[in-house]
Amino acid sequence: NPLRYPESTIAAVATAPGRGGVGVIRVSGRTLLPFAEAISGGKRPKPRYATYTDFYDANGDAIDNGLMLYFPAPHSFTGEDVLELQGHGGPVVMQMLLSRCVELGARLAEPGEFTKRAFLNDKLDLAQAESVADLIDASSATAARSALKSLKGAFSHDIHELVDHLITLRMLTEATLDFPEEDVDFLEAADARGQLHRIQSELDHVLAHAKQGAILREGMHVVLVGEPNVGKSSLMNALAGDEIAIVTDIAGTTRDTVREEILIDGVPVHVIDTAGLRETEDLVEKIGIERTWAAVDKADLALVLVDSRSGVTTSVEALLERLPPALPRVTVYNKVDLTGEAAGLIEAENDTAVRLSAMTLEGVPELRALLLKAIGWHGAEEGLYLARERHLDALRRSRAHLDAAEGSYQQIELMAEELRMAQSALSEITGEFTPDDLLGVIFSRFCIGK
Ligand code: GDP
Ligand code: ZN
Repeated sequence: NPLRYPESTIAAVATAPGRGGVGVIRVSGRTLLPFAEAISGGKRPKPRYATYTDFYDANGDAIDNGLMLYFPAPHSFTGEDVLELQGHGGPVVMQMLLSRCVELGARLAEPGEFTKRAFLNDKLDLAQAESVADLIDASSATAARSALKSLKGAFSHDIHELVDHLITLRMLTEATLDFPEEDVDFLEAADARGQLHRIQSELDHVLAHAKQGAILREGMHVVLVGEPNVGKSSLMNALAGDEIAIVTDIAGTTRDTVREEILIDGVPVHVIDTAGLRETEDLVEKIGIERTWAAVDKADLALVLVDSRSGVTTSVEALLERLPPALPRVTVYNKVDLTGEAAGLIEAENDTAVRLSAMTLEGVPELRALLLKAIGWHGAEEGLYLARERHLDALRRSRAHLDAAEGSYQQIELMAEELRMAQSALSEITGEFTPDDLLGVIFSRFCIGK
């Protein structure tokens, strides 16, 4: 079984850090049977069965006891021999077991290295490998379900189908090139143009789905502007309803106090509160403020919350002037229950505006719909798959080459070249033509043990 990956055996704690009932160490390598025997005091594990055993150190003293699972190559996650050691989930025990694995010749796995080996051994394509990370990082049930769809290959399947159809068309154009007596008439007779149009519309369909998937993954970034007591917290609760965002700490980042995350229809909404944006001499605070401004620059829209009774005040106006001019704005007049005005959309000049009450909730559904419409979310339809900006970029480039191919229909050589490039852009998604440095970037963003 000629594996495409280097000899080394890798090991890592696969469960989350901290204490838990069970902790799992994952080991992957070329031949792990001797390894398994050494750590279990001579037990020979039966493939895919749980073996109850003590785990021993070099002196033959027991470190822990638990279960050992052995998945021989190639029927494992990585495609190599994989060993799972399930011990007691305490940090000290896990560390001792991991050290023992290193003694036995393993080295510590890099972030995403198990998934990378799975990719290199053709167990997963690149889009599937990425969805492993997306599934783990999912912040809503909708996002998790969509990531699982991608992981099981729904997205890759659509891409492969597009590539298949492109190859059929390319065979036709290449044949025309090989036989000079054949020409455009030959392509016409074979309905090359019709084939091209069908591929274009299939690609548009995939792109539309992938765009929705990208929204679900990246979410919406909203800048919240409003004076104290206008109802910012109340509005966030009203918008979120019963949906609870699962906020995971990403390794290496400190959580920002000015950020909040809510879910609207399964779409993560990252809220940047501008309350902290005031003049200050405090150095730590200054750094926080700089970071907030940087986030404001990348936001999708500003939500300007005011009290219906006082309207937009001068201090809110002053802050609005400092926001990027191109940033779309939605003005929300809160507390209509106190003024007796009708809740709902207001026809305003340039801004979009809504009257509502965060207390009685009238007008809140209109605002939710408005926000979702602003980022182009159509709702979680059946068959949605999670996608990344990288995928959208490849799909758009492929689409541009298809257009160019259509434009050069009379020059078959040019058309053939455009079709070739359209195919290679698509193949970047599943990883057939992905440069090594990009692979490095993709896998380094995983957590260790994945
Ligand atoms: P924040 O300081 O902007 O976050 O404002 P809060 O959400 O804490 O609300 C300030 C006060 O206004 C609280 O007493 C809320 O109960 C009240 N409040 C918020 N929204 C409404 C509303 O729509 N109607 C009424 N009557 N009171 C509201
Ligand atoms: Zn569809």
